Amino acid sequence: MSAHPGIVHTYPVNDLIEHETEGDDCACGPTIEPIKAETGEMNWHILHHSLDGREQHEGADQ
Ligand SMILES: [Zn+2]
Repeated sequence: MSAHPGIVHTYPVNDLIEHETEGDDCACGPTIEPIKAETGEMNWHILHHSLDGREQHEGADQ
């Protein structure tokens, strides 16, 4: 599942929509931020937003 090395997707699971994790063209309007790897390479963090009101870091499992 690492077809795009250098790009890290963070997205909420079981969200209302399917997130586009093959690119940066997702319906949720992800936040894209550069992250510098230990190797000195620049990677990209694609931070997806949940569309059902949850924050992904809350981790409420209901
Ligand atoms: Zn998304």
